[in-house]
Amino acid sequence: MGEAKTKKGGKKASTRDEVVLKLRSDPRTEKRFEPKSSPSAILSVLAFSVAAVLVGAGTYGQWLRDEALGPHKAAPWLIAAGAAVLIATALFGPRPALPIRVGDAGVGVEKGGNEIERIAWNVVRRIVLGERSLTVEGEGRSITISLAALPEAAGKVLREARERIPVVVEDLAPGALESRSEAGAETLPLEPAQVAGLKCKASGRLIAFERDARFCGRCGEVYHREAVPKRCETCDARLK
Ligand SMILES: [Zn+2]
Repeated sequence: MGEAKTKKGGKKASTRDEVVLKLRSDPRTEKRFEPKSSPSAILSVLAFSVAAVLVGAGTYGQWLRDEALGPHKAAPWLIAAGAAVLIATALFGPRPALPIRVGDAGVGVEKGGNEIERIAWNVVRRIVLGERSLTVEGEGRSITISLAALPEAAGKVLREARERIPVVVEDLAPGALESRSEAGAETLPLEPAQVAGLKCKASGRLIAFERDARFCGRCGEVYHREAVPKRCETCDARLK
C-alpha cells in the first residue's frame, strides 16, 4: 500500500523519500495567522455602536432630561430599539475569528490567554472544506477556520496536509485557496513536544524517557527509539 501512494506523488517522489526521523530536541516552527476583519464583523461592530447610541439617547430622554420637560415620548422606543439591535447582534452577529497556528505541531487555535488548542497531524481524521470554512477534525476535537477571516491559514492547512497526510486530503481537489501566500504570517518557534504518557505507534511501548522518543518529521507520530519502523505507520514517510 505504501508503494501505490509513493508512485502517486510523481515528481514529489524524491522529497517523499527523504528520511524524516526527528529527535525531541530538533527545532520545530509554526506560522501564526491573524484574522482579517470581515465585512460582516465590521457591520457587527457598527450595529453595536448604533445600538449603544440609541440606548444612551433613550436613557437620557427617559430619565436624565430636565425635570421641567419630563420624559420624552420617543424615549422608551429608542431604548427598546437599541436593546433589540444589541440582542440581535449578540445572537446572530458573527463571532470574532481567533488566530490560527499551522506548522510542525499540526493546526492550532489561540483560545485567549496562553491557551492554544492543537490537533497534531498524526491525529487528523478528516479535513472538510465547506463554502465558508475549513474544518480539521481530530480525535474528539475539531478546529474550524473561517475562509473570510483566515483564507491564508486555510490555504496553509491544505498545503501542509498534502505534504504530511496526503491520504486525508486526496478527495479535495486543489483550489485557489492553496495558492494563497503565507508571507504575512509570523514564524514562531515551537516548544519540544510533550512525551510523557505517549505510546510508541509501532510497538505500543510507553515512552518513559524523553531521550527514547523519536518523531516522524512529517506527521509528528511518535515512536520508541528501539521500535522505529522503516516507514511511518501513519503517513508512510521514510524513517530509516
Ligand atoms: Zn508520519
